[in-house]
Amino acid sequence: MKRTFTCIVCPNGCEIETGYEGSQVLSITGNLCPKGKTYVTQELVDPRRTIATSVRVTGGTLPLVSVRLTNAIPKDRIFDVMAEINRQTLAAPVKIGDVVIKNILGLDSDVIVTKNIEKA
Ligand code: SF4
Repeated sequence: MKRTFTCIVCPNGCEIETGYEGSQVLSITGNLCPKGKTYVTQELVDPRRTIATSVRVTGGTLPLVSVRLTNAIPKDRIFDVMAEINRQTLAAPVKIGDVVIKNILGLDSDVIVTKNIEKA
């Protein structure tokens, strides 16, 4: 089978043409470095993504704070994880690195704060 991937490992965003059988890469062109093959193999076996989003803050100088995952999660769990994050509300102050949700949905990834918000 053949498939085209856009590598998201670095800003080059290589368009990678791949021939594959199951999870085995048989041919690959368009990748500027070996990480492209690793990325394509991962996409075939277990596609993962990370999330950067925001969480509501009460009593702070801003109403929202940016958060991110510490590890990529299975792509097919993104909506479940977003729903869980959207249920959260934090009380100011919040600090970079604060853990909003530890081991979200048992996926071996924490949701952490990426901005400081002081009390209003
Ligand atoms: S193949 Fe290499 S150079 Fe191209 S986007 Fe992926 S990591 Fe970057």
